Amino acid sequence: GQCANVCPVDCITEVPEWQKVQEAIDDKDSIVIFSTSPSVRVALGESFEMEPGSFVQDKMVALLRALGADYVLDTNFSADLTIMEEANELIRRIQSDNIPIPQLTSCCPAWVKFVETFYPEFKENLSTSKSPIGMQGPTIKTYFAKKQGLDPRRIVNVAVTPCTAKKFEIRREEMCDAGKELGIPGMRDMDYVITTRELAEWAKSRGIDFTGLKPERYDSLMGEASGAGVIFGNTGGVMEAAVRTAYAVLTGEPVPENLLKLEAVRGMEGIREASLTINGIKLDIAVVYGTANARILLDKIKAGEKFYQFIEVMTCPGGCIGGGGQPKNILADGDEIRRKRISGLYRKDESMKLRLSHENPEITQVYDEFYETSGSEKAERMLHTAYIDRSGDLNQQ
Ligand code: SF4
Repeated sequence: GQCANVCPVDCITEVPEWQKVQEAIDDKDSIVIFSTSPSVRVALGESFEMEPGSFVQDKMVALLRALGADYVLDTNFSADLTIMEEANELIRRIQSDNIPIPQLTSCCPAWVKFVETFYPEFKENLSTSKSPIGMQGPTIKTYFAKKQGLDPRRIVNVAVTPCTAKKFEIRREEMCDAGKELGIPGMRDMDYVITTRELAEWAKSRGIDFTGLKPERYDSLMGEASGAGVIFGNTGGVMEAAVRTAYAVLTGEPVPENLLKLEAVRGMEGIREASLTINGIKLDIAVVYGTANARILLDKIKAGEKFYQFIEVMTCPGGCIGGGGQPKNILADGDEIRRKRISGLYRKDESMKLRLSHENPEITQVYDEFYETSGSEKAERMLHTAYIDRSGDLNQQ
């Protein structure tokens, strides 16, 4: 496509990506907007000798402003948006005879590529709802830009993530939907991805005293998230967040306590399963991390031994909190650190009043003013995507 020709895959370069972001900050014509993923805020502190799992959201926002951000927004907002689209997609799939189930989550780009390469027969099962970063980018360059009176061409979107695979995801050919919507050919939705480790390295190179920073808050419009958005970083978090909203959509009733703490999908086992009945609809779900575990599950489904409606897969151990771009401590027990980060996110969710994606007022506002309803034509154009059969790549190697 047109976009691919002007979207060079420049992620593997000698120059660390934060230096490119620094260049954008130094260019006074650019408007640099950061968006932070759920897991960064429970790991960044480790790079500055803080306890694993320390919740450093407010210092992280302050750090990004100190580095020169024009706006600091939260990818957790788009985690809520992903849930709105993905929960409604799940209901449509279950109620339809011609869209395949199980629905497979698609917010982990390494997992998506694994399906496209090794199990292309399941590509129609991947949720068409984009990942939170995949939704954040085009929403900033259209809705946010319009509301703030910004020229989208001047916006440089930077995702701060625990994930190295996101560097590939933002450069997928499909991730240019704002440009298509606005008639600006070749404009990418998200311009750079920097990892938690890169952010720490950048801060240190600038001599910023992270622990001494005064707490700051996100900018509004796309800076508010529910607890459901917060737990996205944990294995099982996407499932739990989606079940909360699916329950509310299907029953129209308040989400009960046991669904606000869905124990069966929490924890560190590689494969977890649960069976729920919501409004007479039986929901068999599974949560998996690691592609080895995913293979076991997909093979059982193929053999007709297992049947599910919804499966969450994350590639990294423990989910994104264990992502490849997170701080590393080779002297410490990795599982112990991952457990502490997981608890950091669950504790935050439990402490919040707003725990449901569909009750997030900024989410209600973005639908009222821009996307209309989940699954609307505009939402389909900007917030959904399609997948490619990449099994041919295997023969070329
Ligand atoms: Fe990235 Fe790992 Fe999260 Fe997948 S599980 S999105 S590879 S950090």
